[in-house]
Amino acid sequence: MAEAYSSLAKPTILVVEDEAPLLTLLRYNLEKQGFRVEEAADGQEALLRVSEARPDLVLLDWMLPALSGIEVCRQLRRRPGTRDLPIIMVTARTEDQDAVRALDTGADDYIAKPFAMDALLARIRALLRRSGGAATKGAISYRDLSMDQDAHRVTRNGRALHLGPTEYRLLEFFLQHPGRVFTREQLLDAVWGRDIHVEPRTVDVHIRRLRKAINGPDEVDLIRTVRSAGYALDAEGH
Ligand code: CA
Repeated sequence: MAEAYSSLAKPTILVVEDEAPLLTLLRYNLEKQGFRVEEAADGQEALLRVSEARPDLVLLDWMLPALSGIEVCRQLRRRPGTRDLPIIMVTARTEDQDAVRALDTGADDYIAKPFAMDALLARIRALLRRSGGAATKGAISYRDLSMDQDAHRVTRNGRALHLGPTEYRLLEFFLQHPGRVFTREQLLDAVWGRDIHVEPRTVDVHIRRLRKAINGPDEVDLIRTVRSAGYALDAEGH
C-alpha cells in the first residue's frame, strides 16, 4: 500500500492550512510517503507561493483567515498558468452542497474534515495520476527514446515506433520516472487504474509487447526486469 516516490520524481504538494497541529501532521505523513511539502498558512500566502514555484498539487483548506479556500481556488483557476493545477479542497463540513460548491469553483476533488490519512493519500495519488504529465505535456525522453505527448508519437534513434495504447501509457509512465522500479501492482494502478481488476501477469504481457516495440535488434534493452520486484526504465541495469 505504501507507495514512496523516489527522489528523482518527488511531487511537491502545497499544503494550505491555518491550523498548525494539522499542518504538522500533514507534513509528517506526506513526507513519509515521499512527497515534498510546501506550506502556506493563509490564502494570500498560498497565492504567493504558487506564483513563486508551481507545486504539483495544492491541498487547500476551505476555512482560511482573510481569503477563503474557495476564493483562492477561484483566483488560481482564473490565471492561465494555474488553470489546470491539481487542487484538492478540504472542507470542514460534510454537506453535499459544499462539495458541489468546491467542485464548481474548480477544485478537482474534495475531502471533508475529519479525514483518515490513508483516504487523503489515496486521493492525492489518484489526482496526481489523473493529472500525470499535464504540467509537462510536450516531449519527454530517455537515452535515444523520445515521446512527443502532443502528437502521440514515439521514436527511438529517429525511427518511428508503433505502440498500442496500453504500451504507450506504460512507456509514458516509465518516462515520467526513469530509473525507478515499479511493482506489477504499481504499474496496474498507474496505467489501468485502481478500480479495475487486472491480473498482475497481464503486466508481463504488455511489458513483452513494449520491449518488442521499442528495442531494435542491435539496440540496448531499455526495460530492466528486477526479479521478484518489477520493472524499470533503466538501460544501465543490463
Ligand atoms: Ca482552517
